[in-house]
Amino acid sequence: MNNIFTYTGNPFVDAGITAMLVWLDKENPEEIEDYEVKNLFNELTDLYVQKSWNMMMYSVFPNSKLTNPSVKDKKGEYDKLLNELLSEVVALDSHGNCIACGKRDSKRYFTKTQVPLTGTSDFINFFSYGNGGADYCSACALAIQFSPLVFYKCGNLVCLQSNNKEVEKIYAKKCKSFIDVQKATKEYTGCNDEGYTNPVNALFHLVTDIILTYDRREWHRENTGVRLYHFTNFNQPPLDNLSIYDMPDEIFKFLAYALQHEERDNWKKVIKRGYFTTKKANLDDEEEYKNLRNDVYERLLRGQSILKYFVDTNQRRTLVKWSFLEYYMKEVRKMEAKRLDTIKKVADDIAQVIKTKGNIKRLAQLETAKNYGEFRNVLRLIIKDRINAGFEKPLFSIDEYEKYLFPEGNLSWKETQDLIVFRLYEQLHDWLVNNDKEIKEDLVEDEEEDIELI
Ligand SMILES: [Zn+2]
Repeated sequence: MNNIFTYTGNPFVDAGITAMLVWLDKENPEEIEDYEVKNLFNELTDLYVQKSWNMMMYSVFPNSKLTNPSVKDKKGEYDKLLNELLSEVVALDSHGNCIACGKRDSKRYFTKTQVPLTGTSDFINFFSYGNGGADYCSACALAIQFSPLVFYKCGNLVCLQSNNKEVEKIYAKKCKSFIDVQKATKEYTGCNDEGYTNPVNALFHLVTDIILTYDRREWHRENTGVRLYHFTNFNQPPLDNLSIYDMPDEIFKFLAYALQHEERDNWKKVIKRGYFTTKKANLDDEEEYKNLRNDVYERLLRGQSILKYFVDTNQRRTLVKWSFLEYYMKEVRKMEAKRLDTIKKVADDIAQVIKTKGNIKRLAQLETAKNYGEFRNVLRLIIKDRINAGFEKPLFSIDEYEKYLFPEGNLSWKETQDLIVFRLYEQLHDWLVNNDKEIKEDLVEDEEEDIELI
């Protein structure tokens, strides 16, 4: 009998289905036959009674026959449960009360002993009729039994979910090869554990691994979001036993772009600058920093700008090229192309004026302007510089100013400042290095006008 399984949107059920697909080398859930599932029982029960895997079961299926010390034949008892569930399985229907698939009826009540996160007695009011547990059909409950094969250890456990089923499969294949090694060497270590305890860093690590494992160029053609369910089903407080970490599709695409770009190493430098470090942490040793919080990662997930990490203000240089920044601004920050082009053009003209007049003070003023008024005033002074230097074309038109440089005035000025400063560093860095001596003298003289607000 096939047509038992279908993707449900429930992370645990879908993780189990993905595991079965990879273990059976199949494409679609609907192709999985019941006898094929039965053929996997032996491997599953063998694995789950190994010490390291069995320890993990306390956080997945607490109070089950797998974890109860009084049960002598854990493998036999768990095999019995799997066979019972299989015997209750019917083909997909068009409707039903199962809270995962909605296409079959629940035959029995499942509690957290068989299905993670179906609540505890402390939350009895959340359950209909005051009974702890949930309505899952036996097929979905059976699928869940396979989900630990593809869990990831990160302090608590992680269940990975994506709308892009290829991503789930690439990840599950890595889990399978990891388990295959354990079986071959008879050294069982439990589900994949790479020493991460920080779920945000683990999310970026896993996604990076997925992108690099399957080095395809078409990631930008599809929308791929990735979500981590970081959970414990352990039967003890604390009760906040689930946290969710989401990577939106534009961030996934940006990572794929960055990792496949010629500036990949520069992107890694940007990431490294995001770690909250103490002097002790050695940023050459991944083991030392992998669990430190990373502001670049956290900002990307929160939808905040990471622009400041693209420049090294002390050295007045950029870590990536404008074209890389441009991709980030367009695809992640959703800035319109015309605005970016205008800012670039204006910054290039400013660079030219600074070089022509040898006036480093203007750069410093642009860098340090604290508000919209101050920043506008520096631009006004640069316009005067340009006229004095004999440039005929204006720095920008009124239209460019209102529509593209500061479309929202106070709200957008900071972003414009950051972008102009980025481009100035890119254009002026070499010149600044070569003219270091003169620049210092120029700053000492400092006979120019003070900044006045318009
Ligand atoms: Zn179901």
